[in-house]
Amino acid sequence: MTKRIETICLHGGYTPGNGEPRQIPIIQSTTFKYDSSAEMGKLFDLEASGYFYSRLQNPTCDLVAAKIAELEGGTAAMLTSSGQAANFFSIFNIANNGDHVVCSSTIYGGTFNLFNVTMRKMGIDFTFVTPNCSDEELEAAFKPNTKAVFGETIANPSLDILDIERFAKAAHAHGVPLIIDNTFATPINCRPFEWGADIVTHSTTKYMDGHGSAVGGAIIDSGKFDWNKYADKFPGLTTPDESYHGITYTERFGLAGAFITKATAQLMRDFGSTPSPQSAFLLNLGLESLAVRMKRHCENAYAVAEFLSKHEKIAWVNYPDLPGDRQHDLAKKYCPNGTCGVISFGVKGGRQAAEEFMGHLKVGMIATHVADARTCCLHPASATHRQLSDEELKASGVSADLIRMSCGLENAQDLIEDMAQALAQI
Ligand SMILES: *Cc1c(COP(=O)(O)O)cnc(C)c1O
Repeated sequence: MTKRIETICLHGGYTPGNGEPRQIPIIQSTTFKYDSSAEMGKLFDLEASGYFYSRLQNPTCDLVAAKIAELEGGTAAMLTSSGQAANFFSIFNIANNGDHVVCSSTIYGGTFNLFNVTMRKMGIDFTFVTPNCSDEELEAAFKPNTKAVFGETIANPSLDILDIERFAKAAHAHGVPLIIDNTFATPINCRPFEWGADIVTHSTTKYMDGHGSAVGGAIIDSGKFDWNKYADKFPGLTTPDESYHGITYTERFGLAGAFITKATAQLMRDFGSTPSPQSAFLLNLGLESLAVRMKRHCENAYAVAEFLSKHEKIAWVNYPDLPGDRQHDLAKKYCPNGTCGVISFGVKGGRQAAEEFMGHLKVGMIATHVADARTCCLHPASATHRQLSDEELKASGVSADLIRMSCGLENAQDLIEDMAQALAQI
């Protein structure tokens, strides 16, 4: 029986046997015991599947990863200790020193820094293109050493929506995969594999966990990208790995398993960005209610965006679900049931008014977090971007009056009344 997504949230990845725990068990153990060295040796050589050390794999984490794979419609998945680790692994698994990646320019600031500063130090080059660039500009960004294209379904915090189909076509025309960070949309509101993406990543810290309790990440493979067809571009997947006794990942694990097995066997082994089983358990509790919560986050954000857009003290509102928003057509195409709970807007009176407004909020909390069950807001110009001048802010797409509001699961009318009383005081 094919399960719908609401059902997968609850039942995906784990089917208990007779007398087994109803909830995913927390296997809080670093190591696993075997009767003979020969058996253990087979695991180390990836000749048998099983657990030996939780830095590489842990049963709790694997069950939760399997649920996320099912939610995204992928063939394999792994959890990581953070979204940063997931995005790093997704690129570093196929791009080495001397390689190049085409990337959307409106990605999350932490990812931009990882790519533009830290991964450049590793010798990986990036070309950034705006999500609404022309086909010619996109085409011109590719180089002979390009190994991947990267973007976010809904960008944090600009809320730009990527035309996934267009970027997938361009990537495939150059024989490379499209990697999509699907953190803000979640598989409830968009499944990038259905639009041609090949690899999906998540900061599970956001909506998937949803309660501000556990930092984490995930990588999911669609199993559709044919590494063998472009074998010369991806020798790490298609030629023997000497650090694993000459295993060739595509040969041994097929297209369905090669990418995630390599990322586990090499990158997790060497970098150790492993989530704890406790954190994976908390993430799974969040996943169980993800479909219900995403619907409510979107309804609340829509109600708040609509209220703000009609308020005389509000200069502008950015929420793709609003009719008339510059991104409304893309939102309707990729997220027909709603985008996410995050909106951004400007208060008339600029920086000063924005700070004052936020100070008067009673329900909305000031926090550098988004996608939480509780409404939280941030004024980037006085927080994450405070060292920038007004000119520099403009160049980075963050105006001095911009407030990012992540609408939680509260009563929508309470959120609106809270904002109304805060606006009345400025
Ligand atoms: C937060 C975030 C990340 C980074 O994830 P962490 O879990 O904080 O490491 C990556 N991508 C997007 C879109 C994010 O919002």
